[in-house]
Amino acid sequence: MAERGLIIAIDGPAGAGKSTIARAVARRLGYLFINTGAMYRAVAWKALQMGVSLDDAGGVGRLAYDSLIELTGEVDSMRALIDGRDITSEIATPQVGQAASIVSAIPAVRRALVARQQEMGRAGGVVMEGRDIGTQVFPEAEVKIYLDASSEARAQRRFAEDTERGVAVASLEQMKAEIEERDHRDKTRADSPLTQAEDAIYIDSSAMTIDEVVEKILKIVKQK
Ligand code: C5P
Repeated sequence: MAERGLIIAIDGPAGAGKSTIARAVARRLGYLFINTGAMYRAVAWKALQMGVSLDDAGGVGRLAYDSLIELTGEVDSMRALIDGRDITSEIATPQVGQAASIVSAIPAVRRALVARQQEMGRAGGVVMEGRDIGTQVFPEAEVKIYLDASSEARAQRRFAEDTERGVAVASLEQMKAEIEERDHRDKTRADSPLTQAEDAIYIDSSAMTIDEVVEKILKIVKQK
């Protein structure tokens, strides 16, 4: 019988390098890469587009259930689609990130997206990154990483990324304040707050290169 690939869960706060690192690990292992933040961003984007208030739990919850959210393409050219429309670049802004953090506190939104994520990852051979993968989505994941970094390091990385992408950026100070605000919201929400799973391996990436983190995770995977 063919051996089923592992489920690798990578959680942590905004800007810790989760997407870059999860993508690199998936590429090296030939695994599927699933960026669950893009799904919360897609819901937030659609609510903003439709003029549904982000505080309207019923309205945003229904919208999450009724929307078709797809992550398609190869590891390095992933696209996010909602109801067939490609919104990859629209959801990459800091504004949509903040809005995603607000709608992700709505339990009905989480239920809808977690169910989809479980379907997408069930077969294994997947690197899934987010905030609650090791705690809620796949508590049985074979590898769980909690990737952290200081808020200074995270703000600096996001600042550099956004500048490179040509997204209008705020000052570094403002970026740090926004990251801290989002962390606070993600860590204190009642439903599935961002926390380290008991059996997750903690990695502080503040003073590490991307390659160092990737190699460390691959070593952990090899031991499984
Ligand atoms: O990772 P990213 O910055 O794209 O996530 C956007 C927001 O979506 C996060 O701030 C968080 O509030 C929410 N999120 C979540 N659970 C996940 C992934 C993202 O609540 N698994």
